[in-house]
Amino acid sequence: MQICRSVADCRAAIAALRAKGKTIGMVPTMGFLHDGHMSLVETAQTHTDAVAVSIFVNPSQFGETADLDAYPRDENRDLEMLENAGVAVVFIPEVETMYPSGDETIVETTRMANMLHGLVRPGHFRGVTTVVARLFNIVQPDVAVFGEKDYQQLQVIKRMVADLHMPLTIIGAPTVREADGLAMSSRNVRLTPEDRTAALILSQSLTAAEATATGATVADLHKVIADTVATEPRATLKGLDIVEAETLNTIDGPLHGPTAIMISVAFGDILLIDQRVVTP
Ligand code: AMP
Repeated sequence: MQICRSVADCRAAIAALRAKGKTIGMVPTMGFLHDGHMSLVETAQTHTDAVAVSIFVNPSQFGETADLDAYPRDENRDLEMLENAGVAVVFIPEVETMYPSGDETIVETTRMANMLHGLVRPGHFRGVTTVVARLFNIVQPDVAVFGEKDYQQLQVIKRMVADLHMPLTIIGAPTVREADGLAMSSRNVRLTPEDRTAALILSQSLTAAEATATGATVADLHKVIADTVATEPRATLKGLDIVEAETLNTIDGPLHGPTAIMISVAFGDILLIDQRVVTP
C-alpha cells in the first residue's frame, strides 16, 4: 500500500497502476474509519482493479471550528485497516496541499447545495464539492463510491460529475449500521453513553415513518417523525426533509414515487444524520 502526502506522489502512484493497465476506484473519507467506510472500499474493489482512499478532514465543509477541532482522528489505525483491506493507495494531504495559498476556485451545485441539509449547515456542500472536485482531479479515478447515509451529498456529487462532464462513475452504497440500528459514523464516539442509547431514535423514527408510508402524505410522515423524536428528551430534531429521491424536489401532498426521508438530530453539540428511501 502506497501512502502519499503530496499531489506529485499520489499522481505517481496512480500512474504506476495505470501503466499496469489497472482501473482505479476511489473512496474519499475524513478518516477515523469504521465498517461503513470499509464497505465502500469493498464496493470500489468489486468495480475496479485498484482502490485509492483519501483521508482528509476538510475544513471548508465545517461550519464551526469547534466541530472541526473535535473531529476524531487516528491515522495509524486507519492505515492498518486500509492495508488489511488491500487498498492500493492512500492519499493523506495537508490542508495547504488541498487549499494552496491564494486559491480562489470553488465548485458549487447552486440549487442542491443550498436546500434541505444545506440550510442547516450553510456552505457545507460547497466545501464538499470543492474538495471532492480537487481530489478527483488529483486521483482521476474511473469509479468513486459514496455512502447513501449522506444522501444529499451523494446526489450533489452525482450532479457535479454530470454537470462538469467528469469522466468517472459515481456509485452509492447502502448505510452500514451498528447491531442496534444506529448508522455508523465517526462522530458516534463523541456521544455520551446516554446519548448513544438515545441516538437510536433516528433509525426508530425512520422505521416508524416507513411503516406508514403507503397512502401517506408528506405531512403525515412529518408528524410521525417529529412525534417519535419528541419521545426522546435528549434529542433535538434539527432537520427533516421528505423529498423526491433523485431530484431532491419537494413533494406536496401524497407520496408519488421513491421518496427520501432525511433527518438530522442533535445530541448536545453533536449532529447525527440518517436517511431512508421509501416507496409508497
Ligand atoms: P466521512 O468520512 O464521514 O466523510 O464519510 C466518507 C464516506 O463514507 C462518505 O461517502 C459517507 O457517506 C460514507 N459513510 C459514512 N458512514 C457510513 C455508513 N454508516 N455506511 C456507509 N457509508 C458510510
